[in-house]
This record gives sequence, structure tokens and C-alpha cells, in this order.
Amino acid sequence: MKDIAFNHPTPAGRRFKGTDRRAPLRGGLQSCGEYGAGQTAGRFYPIACVALEVTQRCNLDCTLCYLSDRAEMTYDPPLSVLFARIATIRSHYGTGVSVQLSGGDPTLRKVEDLEALCREIRRLGMRSCLMTNGIRASRAMLTRLAAAGLDDVAFHVDMTQERKGFDNEAELNTVRRAYIRRARGLGLRILFNTTVFGGNFDELPELARFLRDQSEVAFVSFQMQADTGRGVLRNRPDAITQDSVARAIEAGYGTPLDFDAAAVGHSKCNRYASVVTAGGRAVSLLSNRPLVHRVMAALEEVDDNKDAHIRIRPKLRRMVRRHPVLALRALSHLALSVARLGPGLLRGPVRRQAVFIHNFMAADALEEDRCASCVFMVATGNGPLSMCVHNAQRDQHLASADRVDSPMGTFWWNSAMRGLSSRPDLPGLKDPQQAPLKRLKGQLRAARRSRKEAS
Ligand code: SF4
Repeated sequence: MKDIAFNHPTPAGRRFKGTDRRAPLRGGLQSCGEYGAGQTAGRFYPIACVALEVTQRCNLDCTLCYLSDRAEMTYDPPLSVLFARIATIRSHYGTGVSVQLSGGDPTLRKVEDLEALCREIRRLGMRSCLMTNGIRASRAMLTRLAAAGLDDVAFHVDMTQERKGFDNEAELNTVRRAYIRRARGLGLRILFNTTVFGGNFDELPELARFLRDQSEVAFVSFQMQADTGRGVLRNRPDAITQDSVARAIEAGYGTPLDFDAAAVGHSKCNRYASVVTAGGRAVSLLSNRPLVHRVMAALEEVDDNKDAHIRIRPKLRRMVRRHPVLALRALSHLALSVARLGPGLLRGPVRRQAVFIHNFMAADALEEDRCASCVFMVATGNGPLSMCVHNAQRDQHLASADRVDSPMGTFWWNSAMRGLSSRPDLPGLKDPQQAPLKRLKGQLRAARRSRKEAS
């Protein structure tokens, strides 16, 4: 599929007020038969999250990197461009959206820039999440960002990163523990991302068990190997499927996780589970599927503002008033789930944890219905775009122009430029074949290195 472009339409900010912002995503899911009773996307929120790429630079060279060959040769977007993109996210999706500060690794930007972005996202009523490999995310940096309004920090740690001195996922747990210590007590929600690939699939149950037992970790996401970007590992092994990953995680958690009770977007893209954990045990919260669907229907009924993400607490209160019997049943189910933690209750605190399996598509095998019902967008100069589409067309978007309107006039920018231009005709990206070896990463670097060694 060539030149696929799935932007959500962009009505201007104020005209959105009072409209149903969830309608575009709901329509995408309905048109491919994915809007069943368990669907949360388009029903309770207009999008799951939007990535704001603040740099294309990275201090690692992952073997499954989604950046492009040219990415590292570009300039970082000026703050004015990023502020304009944040405003666009807000006008598309309203308040409550999770804006992911990502890259590259965002921590390569000045901490003052990241603080300004967190403040702006908070000012506009959205959530911010720092997506980082953690290397530069020191306690001091996280403390400053938390004070500036950062809500979440997501650490990406796995064997695709080839961190020196670590031979397997179990050894990387030292890094994971250190990162948890850095973020602990700052009021941040702690998330962990893991790429599942041929090199760690066998270790998945053990890794899942480790993550289950970290009481500070609120969200764990397993992202399946995808053939996109500059990474040197290409096709996913046949053994890695959504179902095999789900079974491996369940083996680690020591319990069925009911990945099919509630949906977050297209079922071929995402699988979602919610558990309570305590003292080395986990119990699924979604085990009573009919009850889950009835609670969702009741929440939908009391949700009178489709102009933003659902604010779950006030809606729960209204639901309790309007459906007391259902609320009582849901409460007893929760109490029973906690009780099933048994001896775990004596060993540690009870926590809720979300478990996610994400299935990115290969760049040359994009499926139209999934792109049209994407819940994971990237902010571009042309508005939010499906992450899978963006990864497949990254250079095209790096070269396209952002327009910035300011009191001093209108300016343009693209990734080939350090600063803004007053003219819309912008330069193209540099040819990566001309770059010195040290500026290259991924496939081009591997190819040039082997050519060098052969000569
Ligand atoms: S980024 Fe790709 S895999 Fe993820 S929800 Fe969007 S279309 Fe699906």
C-alpha cells in the first residue's frame, strides 16, 4: 500500500466544542467490525495516545529501531514548532489525551525544553509521558520534570538495545530496578516497554513475572517485533504471534489474563488486560466478561461529554447513583478478585497493573482498516497520523513543512533546518549515503561497515 495517509480531520479548535471528538475513531472501528461491547476506544476516548517526537537523535542503536536511515541527520524541532503541534493535538482530541514525549530519546534535549513542554501539555489539560531508554533520565531530571507537570515515565529496556555487559533479559532486571528507584516517590506513573523479538521470546514468562512483582509499575507494554525503520533485524519469527505472546505473559503472571474482555482499538493491533497484584500473585480484573460489558454500557450511558477523554471517577459516581445494583455487583467482583490474591496479601501491597500487547505492522504490509482505526498517533506538521503509517513514511514527514503562526508573522520549518524560515520553500533532507559512518545507525551503518571490512 503506497502513500497511505490516515490523518484524523482537523476542524479548527473552537469549532470542535460540543462535538463528538470520539466519532472519527469510532467510525474507523465500526467500519471494520471492531466496535463491539468491549471496545473502549471511540467510546470513552478519542485516541489512546499521541507521540510528540522532540528529537530524532538517540544514544542507542536498537536492532529493531523504528527511526529511518536519515533520522539522525536532521535537526530537532524548535519549541515553537512543538508548541504548535501540542495545540493541534489539543484541538483534535480535547483534554485528557496522553502526549508522549518521544524521539529518538527525548532526554537528549535540554531539560529546560522538556520542562516547557510538560508545562504546556499540563496547561492545556492533557497528560504527558516521557518515553525514554532511561540512560539520561537521572533522578534529578525526573524530579525537575515531575515538578513541571510530567505525569508518566515509560522506560524502554530490552535486549534489542544491546546494552554493554548484559547478555539476557534477566540480567537487564538490574537496570529496570535502578530505573524504578529513580522514579519512585515523585508522583509519576511508572511504565515499562519491552520489544518482543526472536532474541528474548523464550525469556518472556520470566520477564513478565519480574514486571508483575514490581509494585511501583502501573503499566507494562510488550511490543512485537515489526519490520519497519532502520533496524537490522527484519521479519518477525513465526513463533511470535499475539496469542503466543499472550500465553507467555500469562505463564509469567501465573493466571489467565482475559485479554479479550476489553478492547483498546483494533484487535489485531492491541490486546489489553487489567490485573490486581500483591506479593508475587496476580488476578485478572476482567474475568467476568458480561459484567465488564454491562459496566461499560452503564458508564457510556452516564457519559454526557464526548468532547474529551472520559473522566472516570465522576462518571463512576454517577453510575453508582443510577445503577446501584450493578455497582454492587462490580464492587463484589473487585473484592473477590482481591481476596483471590490469598497469601500474596500478606506479602505486599495490592496494586492495579495494566498489561498491553502491541502489534506494530511491517512497513510494506500496512493494513488499511487498522490504520484507519489507529489509537496510537504521531503529531506531524499535517496533524496526527497513525504511528505505523508514520514509521513507514518517516522521511517524507521529516521533510514536510510545519507552519508556525506567531504575532511576528508566519514561519515554516522542516527537519532539514535548524531554525524557522520566513519562506515556505524548504530544503530537502540530506542523502544518508554522504554521511560519515559515525552519524549512521541501523542498516546503513551495518552495510557500510561490512563494505569497509571487505575492502
Ligand atoms: S500504531 Fe499501528 S499497530 Fe498500533 S494501533 Fe496504530 S495502526 Fe495499530
